[in-house]
Amino acid sequence: MQLRFVGCGDALGSGGRFNTCFHVTGASVNFLIDCGASSLPALKRLGIARDEIDLILITHFHGDHFGGLPFLLLDAQFTRRTRPLVVAGPAGIEAKLANLMEALFEHSSKTKPRFDLSVIALEPEQSRIFGEVKVTPFPVIHGASGGPFLAYRIEAEGRVVAYSADTEWTETLVPAARGADLFVAEAYYYDKIVKNHLSLKTLEAHLPEINAKRLVLTHMNNDMLGRLGNLPYTAAHDGMVVEL
Ligand SMILES: [Zn+2]
Ligand SMILES: [Zn+2]
Repeated sequence: MQLRFVGCGDALGSGGRFNTCFHVTGASVNFLIDCGASSLPALKRLGIARDEIDLILITHFHGDHFGGLPFLLLDAQFTRRTRPLVVAGPAGIEAKLANLMEALFEHSSKTKPRFDLSVIALEPEQSRIFGEVKVTPFPVIHGASGGPFLAYRIEAEGRVVAYSADTEWTETLVPAARGADLFVAEAYYYDKIVKNHLSLKTLEAHLPEINAKRLVLTHMNNDMLGRLGNLPYTAAHDGMVVEL
C-alpha cells in the first residue's frame, strides 16, 4: 500500500502547492483523503486514474479540502465513469455538496450521475467499513465555520494511516494516531500558538504519547516552508510517495 501526496498545500496556495488531497492505493484499496479545489488538475498532472478511485473521505468543508469535488464529479460524468463512488465526510455533507455543486455549476446537483454515487455522513468515533477500508473519525477543533471537523484513523491491508486534518491541538489526536504506521499531521506554524491550527512545537510535545511509526508534516504556511531544510521531520511535497 502507498500514500501519495497529490496536494499538501494550505488554503492560500503557499509555496505554489496544490490543496490537500492524498491518494492511497494498494492491492485491494483505492481512495482519496480530501479533495481540495485544485485536486482535479493535481490528479491529472500525476496521471492518476480517477475512475479507479472507490472512496473519497472528506475531513471538513473548507474549500482547500472539499472544493474539488464538483470538478471531480463533473469529470466523472463527462468521462462516462461507471464504477460506483462513495463520498463520506462530516454530518451535513449531502446538503453541503449539493450547495457547492449548484454554486459552481448551476443545475449540476440535479443531474443524475451515470454511476452510482453514495454520499455518506460519518459520526465521530463510529467506525465504518467501506470495502476493505475501515475508517474511524475523531472530532477535532478548527473554528466556527466549515465543520464539523474530523481527523481520520484508517485501517487497510494491515496498516494504519492517520490524518489530523486541520485542527488546533486536541487530545482526540492521540487515539486517532496512536501507533499508526503513518501519521500525516498539520504543521501550519512552527512555534506560533493560534486557534484552529497546529504548530510544529505543539505537535512535537505530544509525539511521544502518539508514538506513530512515521510522521509526515503537511499543510504548512510560508514560515514553515522556509524552514524545511532544517527540520528533523519528514515534510510532504506534492507528488511525494510514502510506502506503507
Ligand atoms: Zn486547510
Ligand atoms: Zn480548514
